[in-house]
Amino acid sequence: MIPASPLSLQPVRWQALWRDAVRDPRELLALLDLPQLAAEISDEAAARFALRVPRGFVARMGKGDPNDPLLRQVLPLRAETRAVEGFGLDAVGDAQAKTGAGVLQKYRGRALLVATGSCAINCRYCFRRHFPYAEETAAREGWREAIALIRADASVEEVILSGGDPLSLSTAKLAELTTALATIPHLKRLRIHSRLPVVLPERVDAEFLAWLRALPWPVAVVIHANHANEFDAQVDAALSSLRNAGAMLLNQAVLLRGVNDDVDALAALSARGFAAGVLPYYLHQLDKVQGTAHFEVSDANAKRLHAQLAARLPGYLVPKLVREVAGDSGKRPLQ
Ligand SMILES: *Cc1c(COP(=O)(O)O)cnc(C)c1O
Ligand code: SF4
Repeated sequence: MIPASPLSLQPVRWQALWRDAVRDPRELLALLDLPQLAAEISDEAAARFALRVPRGFVARMGKGDPNDPLLRQVLPLRAETRAVEGFGLDAVGDAQAKTGAGVLQKYRGRALLVATGSCAINCRYCFRRHFPYAEETAAREGWREAIALIRADASVEEVILSGGDPLSLSTAKLAELTTALATIPHLKRLRIHSRLPVVLPERVDAEFLAWLRALPWPVAVVIHANHANEFDAQVDAALSSLRNAGAMLLNQAVLLRGVNDDVDALAALSARGFAAGVLPYYLHQLDKVQGTAHFEVSDANAKRLHAQLAARLPGYLVPKLVREVAGDSGKRPLQ
């Protein structure tokens, strides 16, 4: 006889946590004892790009702190509705770099798949917040067009799963892609860009780890954390299991006014990441997309902060300060 599975002992599935995300700005403020911030919130901004934040991430925010660096990344503010000169819809030239459904090829040897438009969290500064995901995701129709393009282009050595957040897809859907990619001889590396190990660490479950372990290429997982407070014990556990499954872990952050634009915050981010097995990779200057101008840090300040960071930390804990410039052959270093 097969015993009934002990349902009560099963971990909460990540999909349930995903659905349970906070989506109402006023609920978020109530959870954080911050009713006074209601006046700063914009329903118009939230209607254009919804608030979405997993409850586990909310739990890492400080109660009663209107300047909490995690809160500032997700709160839809009135400031977003201001039109600011120089902040457009496609700041990084994605529309020109598209070579097929959901495939972006800007740099030699690398094909980036906009795997899906979904994310577990909506980051207000997101450079793809205006991206026309509905028509553009690579996952539709069983990844067929993306796979055909990569197969036909022998210069592609690395496939980058990006989005949206590629880990918002089911592991079965990811496996559908990698099973097909595994038949392409010129691929040498797989990279995954995901914020989920940080914002919804439960996503790194046994099924996902089994998939990761079985991949035929070396894998880099580039996580996305902007502040040391985004790490907690559960994030550490998820990152540690990713490493144990053979992935190289890197972090990319965005330099954001009011979130991490001081040298103590940046140094703490590098140190906290390293404690969790993650090396810093890029510190991005903000991409100038509409609705994000209030996060901007000037290039002069960015360079000064970066120099201070380099004077304080070992070289391997100093991320490269870069900006994406449409038409460049790679991310452009600021110096
Ligand atoms: C940022 C980006 C990459 C990755 O660049 P790396 O410097 O290799 O991290 C690849 N393709 C596209 C389209 C990108 O925007
Ligand atoms: S997780 Fe990444 S893609 Fe999704 S909203 Fe945040 S920055 Fe944008």
